[in-house]
Amino acid sequence: MEYIREPEKQIPVRYDADVFVAGGSCTGVFAAVRAARLGARVVLAERQNCLGGTATAGLVNVWHSLKDTDYKEQIIGGLTDEMVGRLVKSGAAIVQDDPSLAIQFDPNRLQYELDCLVRESRIRVLLHTVCVGAVTEDGRISAALIENKDGRGAVRAGFFIDATGDGDLARYLGIRRYRHPVIQPPTPCFLLRGSTDGIRVENLIRSHGQEFGIPDDFGWYGPVPGVPDIYLRADFHVLGEDCASAEGLTRVEMEGRRKAYALVDLIRRYTDRQVSVAALSSLAGIRESAHYETVYQANGDELLTGARYEDAVLNGTYRVDMHDLDGTVTFKYLDGSAIRMVGAERQSVEWNWREQAGLTGEPARYYQVPFRVLVQERYANFIAAGRMLNADVQAFGALRVMVNLNQLGEAAGVAAFQCLHTGQTVQQVSGVEVRNLLRAGGSCL
Ligand SMILES: Cc1cc2nc3c(=O)[nH]c(=O)nc-3n(C[C@H](O)[C@H](O)[C@H](O)COP(=O)(O)OP(=O)(O)OC[C@H]3O[C@@H](n4cnc5c(N)ncnc54)[C@H](O)[C@@H]3O)c2cc1C
Repeated sequence: MEYIREPEKQIPVRYDADVFVAGGSCTGVFAAVRAARLGARVVLAERQNCLGGTATAGLVNVWHSLKDTDYKEQIIGGLTDEMVGRLVKSGAAIVQDDPSLAIQFDPNRLQYELDCLVRESRIRVLLHTVCVGAVTEDGRISAALIENKDGRGAVRAGFFIDATGDGDLARYLGIRRYRHPVIQPPTPCFLLRGSTDGIRVENLIRSHGQEFGIPDDFGWYGPVPGVPDIYLRADFHVLGEDCASAEGLTRVEMEGRRKAYALVDLIRRYTDRQVSVAALSSLAGIRESAHYETVYQANGDELLTGARYEDAVLNGTYRVDMHDLDGTVTFKYLDGSAIRMVGAERQSVEWNWREQAGLTGEPARYYQVPFRVLVQERYANFIAAGRMLNADVQAFGALRVMVNLNQLGEAAGVAAFQCLHTGQTVQQVSGVEVRNLLRAGGSCL
């Protein structure tokens, strides 16, 4: 590649804060709120026009259960629980004891509730603002660089949290990154007006998809609570693209829109349903891109056998859920059951991974992840939280869902405050203390 030199220029310091958060999904917002509630002055930059990330701009409107696998004990509290309470109160969420669709919500209402939450928490939020770099001195970050309608500017802060999903800030900082051999493919979602209940859409695609340029695929759909006759559709995967590259992401977005309209045409042609596209997502649903190294890599063995940690910052139950590039989906549950579904026909193979591993005794009812999964070694005042987390293929398959990443965000916010409060680095701060503060703020840890 050839290079040109950008002329050196003075960057105005637009904001001074205790904590700067890049990325405003619930991971980033919950990090910001936790730090603010402890007394930190927080600036949050989000490149979209709204907060919520995949849950709002991406339209993915499902959170998984806040209870253990028996649905007896609540294991996830904190801001996820608070937000579910707000959504239920406004008629914008349905809660049920279900392993796949526990909490379904209206993504538009979530946008609005997140606006209210950050206002109440006195967080300075900058929408339409991209974090484009960082300035470092002696192993510390001194400023993040942002770009928005005011031009290029700097945010000086004591602590920096990367909640950009892809780990944009971590990449600018040169933290070692890696990719899994198979990256879970993205699914651009859309809202459909009209029900397809009673129709096997994947069968329709298999029979007539070619005519509309839709390869065999399968996905899911569900209602948008409080909004009659509107359904979230997640019917397609887009294979072979890198969502952490500009051109790859562009192709994914355009391919998602093309397929949405093609599917509507197909349904209208081959059924009696007069469906239409009600809204397209403004952010493709990205399951995975890059991961960044920290001192501990979450791994499937410890997770599935329910290892416990004194510095636990996350409780979860969501199954290991891995989408392969040939359309295969594999689920592994804490109770030992496992299923692999191959191709659009979803031919399934079932087995018991606990029996296979010779495990006896009671299976765990939930898993945990320790604080050290967030601790990178290079910078004293930086954490990356979100789907860029350090996890092997199996652990990532389970941890990548929002009720889990929301908790990592909360832990990042609390740890940021604790570092500033004690004068410690992120490597020195006590994970047990972080857990205690999370618990005091409503987490079920
Ligand atoms: C189709 C599909 C279905 C799924 N189903 C579920 C499900 O049912 N339940 C579930 O819990 N999870 C589900 N997931 C997974 C889950 O949605 C994601 O793993 C999760 O939302 C990732 O959260 P995140 O906070 O890490 O990143 P994101 O949600 O991607 O948020 C990152 C945020 O940072 C912003 N951003 C990025 N770069 C910058 C930058 N440089 N500067 C400023 N802002 C930036 C983005 O605009 C975005 O708002 C699904 C995913 C897909 C694709």
